[in-house]
Amino acid sequence: MGNEPREGRLKEGVEPKFRTVHPAPPPGLIPAGFNSDIAPTFSSPMAEASTPTQTLLDRMIAERQLSAADAAAFVQARSLQGTSGSGGQEPNEREVLEWLSQEYGVGFLPLESVEADREVLALFPARILLKEELLPLRREQGTIEVATCRLFSTRGLDTLRSLTGLRLKLVLVPREALLREMKKNLGVGADTIGALDEEKSVQVVDENTEDSNLDAGAEDEASIIRFVNQVLKDAIELRASDIHLEPFEHEFRIRYRIDGELQEIPLPAQLKQFQPAIVSRIKILSHLNIAEKRLPQDGRIKVRIEDTEVDIRVSVIPMLHGEAVVMRLLRQNSTLRGLSQIGLGARELQCFRRVLDLPHGIVLVTGPTGSGKTSTLYTALNEINDEVRKIITIEDPVEYQLRGVNQIQVSEKAGLTFARGLRSILRHDPDVVLIGEIRDRETAQIAVQASLTGHLVFSTLHTNDAPGAVTRLVDMGVEPYLVASSLEAVLGQRLVRVLCPECKVPDTSAHANAFRLRMGMGPDVELFKAVGCRHCRQTGFFGRHAIFEWMDTDENIRRMILENASTDQIRAAARSAGMRTLSEDGWRLVAEGITTVEEVLGVTTDKDTPRNNAATESGDPSGPASGENAAGSRT
Ligand SMILES: [Zn+2]
Repeated sequence: MGNEPREGRLKEGVEPKFRTVHPAPPPGLIPAGFNSDIAPTFSSPMAEASTPTQTLLDRMIAERQLSAADAAAFVQARSLQGTSGSGGQEPNEREVLEWLSQEYGVGFLPLESVEADREVLALFPARILLKEELLPLRREQGTIEVATCRLFSTRGLDTLRSLTGLRLKLVLVPREALLREMKKNLGVGADTIGALDEEKSVQVVDENTEDSNLDAGAEDEASIIRFVNQVLKDAIELRASDIHLEPFEHEFRIRYRIDGELQEIPLPAQLKQFQPAIVSRIKILSHLNIAEKRLPQDGRIKVRIEDTEVDIRVSVIPMLHGEAVVMRLLRQNSTLRGLSQIGLGARELQCFRRVLDLPHGIVLVTGPTGSGKTSTLYTALNEINDEVRKIITIEDPVEYQLRGVNQIQVSEKAGLTFARGLRSILRHDPDVVLIGEIRDRETAQIAVQASLTGHLVFSTLHTNDAPGAVTRLVDMGVEPYLVASSLEAVLGQRLVRVLCPECKVPDTSAHANAFRLRMGMGPDVELFKAVGCRHCRQTGFFGRHAIFEWMDTDENIRRMILENASTDQIRAAARSAGMRTLSEDGWRLVAEGITTVEEVLGVTTDKDTPRNNAATESGDPSGPASGENAAGSRT
């Protein structure tokens, strides 16, 4: 920020004077004053054929970032400097804004250095900031810098000044940076909630009384509808798997689960008073009883955004301070990748392909909730889904829809359990059966029966690793000889977060080096660590990648099952037969710079993995697999 002579006057709204280097602007085009948004003439003085420069200036004029007079002066200044014409580069928004900032003695911040201080931001009403497109950034020597991309929007600045009594000064920023920061800091729907607040027609309603929010005017209702739509839309765009709306005494919090981690969404503080109206809106969308506020309810919403259809499972549970809502997002036509594209190693892929051609047997995918088991099974089903095979699935909930596959939705309420549905399925003579999850003895036994009577059965099980599936089935009450004869293979699976490609940096710390040595990785192997940037919402990670371990039940392991061998013994046998464990698969991703040591340690429990002290200390125990969700069992 320079000490330009006109800064003070600009702050007081005094008409600035142009430097003498400018040609006199045509009469009538001189900005009459900076206290008005209207005074500068925002129409192009250049009516001739458009050059890229003129297109840019016209656009900036149309968006009221620039007055016509300034545009003319800018062109003139460039031609005097000899930067225009065929030899020179075409200007961009940044150059124009920098020029403006010099002309008017205001600061300029480039795109990458625009970052708002939350504490400073909290001093101003979000509604006015959004309306005037002003964003307070930081406090500097008692004065608060307020970002704008429109130099002439000083009316908004005056409003803020009189509302807060603070000393403010404008700083010019690129439009893109302003919009990005506004969205990030003022949050989803801040404008619609702000509008509601202003109108005051929605009363603060007591959650225990009748729905007074239903009496709200149509406009308020429209605002609530817009707000809820915005929440859903943002969640889908941010790749969220769940939306959590949580009522607390003085706060109504909304969080999205992205890549397995909950992330809080910045919201206006006034949101709390609209909590009942927002929950009611969600209940209406999901066909729930809005009058019932004392009992949990489950419902669903179907939404479509562009080509993506999303099935949303809604769970409402009354809590101490109002009803909490968890929405689980199931993307219906998220395209399934091929089996070779889900990250299986060459050996694992070959093993998987082999069992797909088996006439009968059980193939299990194991891992905790949210480890991507269902996606893997669907990818497999997709490979064998053809006209000669009949495939039936029974799931809770149905997560993907496959053409040509018969899918059954479990409904405990109606008495259609896994076990009951499964018994009926067999009468429909399928070749392949997918059971969403083996949860109990009855389901396990029918699965075994189905396998023994000539069906290929796929299912999932909650165990720590692949060898653990054997013990789990036996613990559920399946006879070891039945497990030995029906179980063909088990795939253990976890998800690790992928380092954000935009901001990851080489990890040259001592503990990274120690780890590399311990793992026998050469000096050419580079480890990376998470940093955090805008692209990844400061988490350092973007997306997830699966790690696998594949255990074939070969003759040796079948014999061990019959002999009641322990999980450890079975694991050792599987490893000596070539099984690569989950963490060994994870180290492969670490060595490729895809994820971090901590991520892999966070989701695996291998006893035989050499652990690095430093990595264990700083390890993130809240791996993606630790996420449970209330709206349904994700497998
Ligand atoms: Zn990043």
